Amino acid sequence: MSADGSTSGRCLCGAVTYTVSGRLREVTDCHCERCRRFTGHHMAASAAAVADLEIEDPTGQLTWHPVPGAAYGFCATCGSSLFWRADADHTQVSICAGTLETPTGLRTVEAWWTSQASDYFTRPDLPERLTE
Ligand SMILES: [Zn+2]
Ligand SMILES: [Zn+2]
Repeated sequence: MSADGSTSGRCLCGAVTYTVSGRLREVTDCHCERCRRFTGHHMAASAAAVADLEIEDPTGQLTWHPVPGAAYGFCATCGSSLFWRADADHTQVSICAGTLETPTGLRTVEAWWTSQASDYFTRPDLPERLTE
């Protein structure tokens, strides 16, 4: 978090950068199959109000992959997982926590959909929730 209270982040190659001017939700780990395949492990996501998120993508690399009821946002150049949004809620966007600049000041507070985690996964020492 910067001195003005905003938090920035970016993809691996830096083609897509963003700034969050408002509050960031604590991090949840989503182990659902879609998030597992999208991220390659599980989605560790914060979230913010869409109105607080400013994305800079001068070359149009941010690509949204639609799935039923939602979409995943990634960088078309480097493949970084960046965002997740639900079709039913246009006010919130989930942000892949690993793309935030450190220190984030955030904590991981919950694990979602651990029933869909792969068999290599060691169950977390976190409260678990079965809905997204
Ligand atoms: Zn990139
Ligand atoms: Zn998920």
